Amino acid sequence: GMTALAYARKKKTTVAYYSSEIEPNSLNLRLLNDFQRVHCSQFVLHYQPQLDLHDNEITHIEALIRWQHPDFGLLPPVKFIALFEETGAINVITRWVIRECIAMLKHHHESLKVSLNITTRDLVDDDFVPLVKELIQGINPERLVFEVTETGIFTDSQQAQRSMKELHQLGIQFAVDDFGTGYSSLSYLNELAIQEIKIDRSFVAELTQQSRALAIVQSTIALAKELGLDVVAEGVEDRETLELLRKLGTDRIQGYYLAKPMPETELDLKKIVRSD
Ligand code: C2E
Ligand code: MG
Ligand code: MG
Ligand code: MG
Repeated sequence: GMTALAYARKKKTTVAYYSSEIEPNSLNLRLLNDFQRVHCSQFVLHYQPQLDLHDNEITHIEALIRWQHPDFGLLPPVKFIALFEETGAINVITRWVIRECIAMLKHHHESLKVSLNITTRDLVDDDFVPLVKELIQGINPERLVFEVTETGIFTDSQQAQRSMKELHQLGIQFAVDDFGTGYSSLSYLNELAIQEIKIDRSFVAELTQQSRALAIVQSTIALAKELGLDVVAEGVEDRETLELLRKLGTDRIQGYYLAKPMPETELDLKKIVRSD
């Protein structure tokens, strides 16, 4: 087949499709080549807890990928995920993430659920649903939440929506990630197999300062309640924001105030719950 380098060069003309920010610059070419060599072996997952505001317990953790690169150090996903979405390697990465998460779940109490990020490219891949079906043997599939961004859900693709439905029928939960930043029509919330909305960090960060952000968060929560969806707020960095979100009816919060993403070995779910 084609080398990553040749592929990236060929892609140069069509690269604007997903993101105009991806260019075949030297770092990207290096990462593409490295991935071809080492596959997923240098990836690690960090997990960030979500606090359930109804019972003050950690009920979910979100898996967030990092690349432990021998030359560049711990690379955040912003450096490589969009790149691998371009090349299609994301399908391999998502499978690795799901496998890791399922293995992790087996080490924890059955009440713990894991959220992980998937992309449209996964949902339109013919092999995805059968593969997930195979991987979830031996765990309760309701312990998996697949996060998809609004733009990810809102493709023209019927197949993406069909895959979500099939996966949900298997028991998998779906969350809309970065809610409020993407597509403006909300009708899809009613039509698709979605159980959860994650309010984007940009609104959460301004919540206590800006009446516009407050209005957006309030109406999002009202809409979610109306549709019977759970609301998670991401990027909560202080107690004031947490308390306001609690008052507004948010179901769960995630953010540095509670804990940063961390390796599985450092997860101590009982200790993370703050009593102050
Ligand atoms: P996301 O899914 O919206 O994840 C939340 C991001 O916000 C994470 O960044 C997390 O570390 C960060 N965050 C959490 N709490 C706070 C806070 O209180 N303050 C601030 N400033 N940031 C906070 P991270 O880990 O760098 O991931 C960035 C994005 O990369 C994710 O956004 C997700 O879209 C993508 N991503 C991460 N892991 C994966 C993966 O395994 N597969 C795919 N396809 N995408 C992934
Ligand atoms: Mg996410
Ligand atoms: Mg998010
Ligand atoms: Mg976000």
